[in-house]
Amino acid sequence: MDTQTKIAIIAIVTIIPILSFAVWNIDQSIISAAADSTEISVMTSFYPLYEFTKQVGQDKVRVSLLVPPGIEPHDWEPTINELQKMYEANLIVINGIGFESWVDDIDTINSGVVIVDTSAGVSLINIDHSSVDPHIWLNPVMAKTQVTNIVNALIKIDPTNEKFYRDNAKSYQAKLDSLDTKIKNELSACKKDFITFHNAFLYFSIQYDLNQHTIIRSNDSHSEPTLKTLEQIINLAKKFNIDVIFAEEALDTRTSQVIANEIGAKVLVLSPIEVGDENSNYLSKMENNLLNLKEALCN
Ligand SMILES: [Zn+2]
Repeated sequence: MDTQTKIAIIAIVTIIPILSFAVWNIDQSIISAAADSTEISVMTSFYPLYEFTKQVGQDKVRVSLLVPPGIEPHDWEPTINELQKMYEANLIVINGIGFESWVDDIDTINSGVVIVDTSAGVSLINIDHSSVDPHIWLNPVMAKTQVTNIVNALIKIDPTNEKFYRDNAKSYQAKLDSLDTKIKNELSACKKDFITFHNAFLYFSIQYDLNQHTIIRSNDSHSEPTLKTLEQIINLAKKFNIDVIFAEEALDTRTSQVIANEIGAKVLVLSPIEVGDENSNYLSKMENNLLNLKEALCN
């Protein structure tokens, strides 16, 4: 590694904070969740669950998103006021697997609110001895299970609309099936190793027989890489002849850029779909991830 690269890496590690920026302008704030007594009110903890719940509930359900616009959900915590607002919902939809560290603060017994853990029934993977990987939504087959858990919860609360919810879930799950088949077909003959930013693509990689390498080791996308891990990742990129370094759309891309410059690679986005935006949805973001993975692996 030359001196300039070393200086650039040190600058990233020590000086430049990894910033989130707002990409979501839709009014989906918690304040809009004031209850209309005839409507089912559902709060969802972060973007994919908001989307899945909307797909199933459509106009029968008022869906809101708990994490405020542009905020990356890994380290979000509700204020007391936001916790109070959650008690006005019929249902709170969470990812589970410890992704929502605040969920234990909710008093379900006294508030009557029902919490749906959408990870129920998914085979989980330990990242290390103390933590389990929460990023199940990036595997479309696991996303189908999350949709099933959402539809079952809605039917329990609103049994009169059972058929409506089941039909909607079925047609959305068919789209997830097509997505799964498409990714499988289009990546099957390609290279396997890719470098992404944080540890979000393990379930995805297992599903499509790929090897994920990450720039930051922690499960938390806000932690910062060390000089040593950056050196290791540059060596690894050289070893696998990698010519694309991935970055995330909601985080600073400079770390990925420094690595890419060092090895003559380019930077593309691989979205962990943790933050939504008004121009795309879960399916279109997954399609875009596929396009960028093909550029990285199939050339
Ligand atoms: Zn993540």
